[in-house]
Amino acid sequence: MAMLPYGRQSIDDDDVAAATAVLRSDWLTTGPEVDRFEAAVAARAGVAHAVSVTSGTAALHVAYAAAGITSGDEVVTTPLTFVATAAGAALHGAKIVFADVDARTGNLDPAAAEAAVTDRTRVVAAVDYAGVPVDAAAFRDLGARKGILFLEDAAHSIGSTLDGVPVGSLADITTYSFFPTKNLTTAEGGAVVTASDELATRARAFKNHGLVRDKALQRYPDEGPWHQEVHSFGLNYRLPDVLAALGTSQLTRLDAFVARRAEVKASYDTAFAGIDGVDTPFVPAGASPAFHLYPLRVPADRRREIFESLREQGIGVQVNYIPAYWHPVFEDLGYQRGQCPVAEDYYRREISLPMFPGLTDGDVERVIEAVSHAIGV
Ligand SMILES: *Cc1c(COP(=O)(O)O)cnc(C)c1O
Repeated sequence: MAMLPYGRQSIDDDDVAAATAVLRSDWLTTGPEVDRFEAAVAARAGVAHAVSVTSGTAALHVAYAAAGITSGDEVVTTPLTFVATAAGAALHGAKIVFADVDARTGNLDPAAAEAAVTDRTRVVAAVDYAGVPVDAAAFRDLGARKGILFLEDAAHSIGSTLDGVPVGSLADITTYSFFPTKNLTTAEGGAVVTASDELATRARAFKNHGLVRDKALQRYPDEGPWHQEVHSFGLNYRLPDVLAALGTSQLTRLDAFVARRAEVKASYDTAFAGIDGVDTPFVPAGASPAFHLYPLRVPADRRREIFESLREQGIGVQVNYIPAYWHPVFEDLGYQRGQCPVAEDYYRREISLPMFPGLTDGDVERVIEAVSHAIGV
């Protein structure tokens, strides 16, 4: 039997038609499909602005640029994430300060984050681990009291809500990833969403070389009709129209994707709840998560063996994530193991089971049997 992956895209004929129609149009890159997609993403997020970019990593780099992060600034973030959450700020010269997570959700603990704040902290960047929204009220309150921007890395959580409010409306600035395993895909892609005109303007500039085209804002508006000028450095993170069209098509099925993910989660929960030493994902009151991952926690001293058994049984499990500061790039900067023990314990116990909308009931049954066999129950 083929290896069942931990995540996989769902592409249908409408997606294919949407993308191929653009291939035959006048626009391959920035054109009308980008505008349509950005409008749809902003509507879904419940905010005024969506800025599409080429990846979730680019979205983070752009969001930190919009926040004005520069050398000497500090960014407080979670270690239980993909390294891009930290790298996006480090590449602007920020010092990354890791704070520990909540043992139940794996999400950045607001109290730990607050204890890590100094007078140099500019941003607190929290991640909706597995799709479960962070304690947004606590981070908004922290931000308001300390004058810090609250960034939500929602790579896992487009489609999630907290107290009925969509992820995208919870933080000052929110980033999405549209990588194939995520909740919806544009192949590679991402977006920055925000209610702030100012943050959106800066995000747009950074993703497009910092170019200023508005005559009213130019230093040399009389240079000629061809003129555009750069006021601050940027990069090219423009999402092509072909991929934006795919994204708009995918977005129409996001609710169906989320519903199927919830069914899969419920089946896993039923099968694994009550097994000694095993923890299923915790959902805080008010949260309605779009489950990107299904993080099962097993006894740390058996994680490797259970993981290897599952791979041998054709179940393409993953581990999300190695604590970010364990990466040699941080180790070489002097970061020590042991600084966030809760995140490290979470990591040592975690195995991500297959979780994607295309899983059949038979696939889910196969995973449950394989896990039961691996654990020995
Ligand atoms: C996937 C992911 C990213 C990066 O997104 P890409 O689109 O792969 O660049 C950033 N943060 C988290 C938490 C992710 O899971």
